[in-house]
Amino acid sequence: MVVAGAGMAGLCAAARARELGVTPTVVEKGDRPGGSMLLSSGVVWRYRSLDDFRRECPNGHPRLQRLIVERLDDALEWLESLGAPVVEAETGNPRTIGRRFDPRGLTEALVGAAGDVRTGRAMGSDPKPRPEEPLVLATGGFPVRLARELGLAIRSNAWSEGDGLAFGLACGADTTAGMHEFYGRAMPAPPARWGEDEFVDHAQLYGRLARVFDESGDEIAVEGDDWSENGLVQEIGRRGGRAWFVVDRDNLAQETPYGTVADLVERARAAGATVEERDGSLAVHVVAAVTHTIGGLAIDERARVLGANGAPIAGLYAAGVDAGGWSTGGYASGLAAALVFGLAAAEEIAS
Ligand SMILES: Cc1cc2nc3c(=O)[nH]c(=O)nc-3n(C[C@H](O)[C@H](O)[C@H](O)COP(=O)(O)OP(=O)(O)OC[C@H]3O[C@@H](n4cnc5c(N)ncnc54)[C@H](O)[C@@H]3O)c2cc1C
Repeated sequence: MVVAGAGMAGLCAAARARELGVTPTVVEKGDRPGGSMLLSSGVVWRYRSLDDFRRECPNGHPRLQRLIVERLDDALEWLESLGAPVVEAETGNPRTIGRRFDPRGLTEALVGAAGDVRTGRAMGSDPKPRPEEPLVLATGGFPVRLARELGLAIRSNAWSEGDGLAFGLACGADTTAGMHEFYGRAMPAPPARWGEDEFVDHAQLYGRLARVFDESGDEIAVEGDDWSENGLVQEIGRRGGRAWFVVDRDNLAQETPYGTVADLVERARAAGATVEERDGSLAVHVVAAVTHTIGGLAIDERARVLGANGAPIAGLYAAGVDAGGWSTGGYASGLAAALVFGLAAAEEIAS
């Protein structure tokens, strides 16, 4: 079997396939394996129940969501059995269950288990209606292209431009709802400069503790239950991509997952973002940044890519962010979806 993409989904699929006696070849467009997984916080998680998942991501496909809820705990054990290092046994978020892995150790464990991983080798997007070998599309969706089209910043690996999606479409695949939805974060706006190493700790994750205004000065309402602030970031994206977080000095000592609000404001200032005094508050200029896309190829619970007629396309599978339908209308763990559907693809191919 061939796997396109050596990120979380592709490496999980390849590692599991090898265990089951199928020989995978993984082709990776980038000059290193790991994709966005390597840049991530490494928290692989799920909502506590399917009902919670449905409430958080109401437009997602219940059958895909059920599979994540039912399979993730065993899949986490499997990751650990490969030697992936657990940093924390819990997520620290009462809404979710999962583990935090060291991203570098996780990548190394998976590469070791996957075997033949060839970097600097992009899968072509030429039409190829019936691949001779089973093909798993795991190219990480199209965050780079979507960010470019919407004028937003990129907060993902540099290579996920939608090659898997293009290949699937050329084979007659169907797509899911939410093709313009994305998971992202507010980041310091230009002239601020930040790179891959700052993706996590430069995120401005205190919209709920601020008043948020678009570039026209219109206030953006922050929903009380938008705990991930992903709804807020997408709204900023719809309004041109830039906004101001105006935070009262009384809130500067409040904790966020990455330090206090004051720490995050200081990192934005140090990176070069505009931070202004406004009537005793601080106004921080932010830009919406795309981490991964939410819409993608339609798949079933066996990770088979579905055609426009709803039937599986022979030999074609998708996992991770190349597949849509698991978090539409909300936010869920991309690493968990990549793990669960990567395993499902390998097991289907081996069966
Ligand atoms: C800063 C940051 C923090 C994050 N934190 C978390 C977190 O804590 N928890 C969580 O669940 N998620 C997190 N994520 C998201 C998570 O990393 C992704 O959802 C996950 O990596 C998706 O897995 P994937 O295999 O679909 O894509 P990736 O892991 O991105 O892998 C896709 C791979 O495909 C390659 N590729 C692209 N095009 C081609 C081609 N034509 N041919 C061959 N290869 C190709 C890419 O180079 C890449 O290596 C975070 C992401 C970032 C950037």
